[in-house]
Amino acid sequence: MGTNNNPLWKQLIAEKYGLEQSEWHTKYSKQPYGYSIWKGINKYTELFKSNCIFRLGDGTRISFWIDIWVGDQPLFQRFPAVYGVCATKNHTISQMYNVNAEIWELGITRRVHDNVISEIATLLHLLETNGVTPSSSADVRLWKDGHQAGEFTFKKCYQWLVTRNIVEENQTECVHPKIIWSKLWPAKVSFFLWLATKNKVLTQDKLIKRRWRDWANHCYLCINDEETSRHLLLHCSTAIYIWNFFKVEFHLNWVLPHSIHTALSTWPCSSIRSRKSLVIKALPVAILWNLWKERNRRAFKNKSSTTAKIIQSIKHIIAYWLYLQPEFQKISLKQFMINWKTVVFEPP
Ligand SMILES: [Zn+2]
Repeated sequence: MGTNNNPLWKQLIAEKYGLEQSEWHTKYSKQPYGYSIWKGINKYTELFKSNCIFRLGDGTRISFWIDIWVGDQPLFQRFPAVYGVCATKNHTISQMYNVNAEIWELGITRRVHDNVISEIATLLHLLETNGVTPSSSADVRLWKDGHQAGEFTFKKCYQWLVTRNIVEENQTECVHPKIIWSKLWPAKVSFFLWLATKNKVLTQDKLIKRRWRDWANHCYLCINDEETSRHLLLHCSTAIYIWNFFKVEFHLNWVLPHSIHTALSTWPCSSIRSRKSLVIKALPVAILWNLWKERNRRAFKNKSSTTAKIIQSIKHIIAYWLYLQPEFQKISLKQFMINWKTVVFEPP
């Protein structure tokens, strides 16, 4: 796809959806199930393509007429009369260039009007003056950034979409990525957090909305209220008890907010590394993750833990995540779990 490197995620997507002939993009899918996310992303493909330009290599992956590779617009737009009569509308550059004869073959096989001849002359002049002919290197796709073109980055693309009002830039709704994507806890926890901050965890309200479930919505922890991600993870009586328990234990001056993204954004973290500050950093993550795990135990395994046991599990998982950090050197996982208070609060 986009670039020449080939990480596993790209191989997976290519395998599942199949690639277009040029291999820059996947094919459009018409499958009804299991493809909705990718179909949603694909809606923006044409828009995305409009900001890409190509640096010519061997010309096997660039469309002569459609892609932007010489000048700043596609050749079919600049030379509509020639494009209208040529038989090479879907050709790549390499198919258009006769290497042995060193000439461009535009595929015009019939008599044409003067205006076409004049356009052909201008087109050939353009190709000649720019000295663009296929070479042996690979074609490269670049991202337009103002008047320049360079390597594609997600940041550049995001800013570009923001300036076109295609995505909204809303800093207050964003949790700083460092809070979510940390190496202290596993990636699956980060993904869960990311979904939780966007209110996209698959709680029952979401399942009912998608018609995947068709019975009364109730919270598995308190059985009283409806289950939404905010209720389950913040405002359920069990969740409130657990958040307050740790607030008191760590003397935190923090008020339980309305939303998960505010909870994480306002959580009192310190940039100074110490045992206590590392534990405080991991604490909201461990609370949210354990509430979610407990909910799933009750929903799918029909097993439940007491609130005291959930608090114990939160401490254990924090110990498990952190005991290899240098601050906890010479402290075993078992010591950390058993002597939590001594390990966290007392200096070594
Ligand atoms: Zn509840």
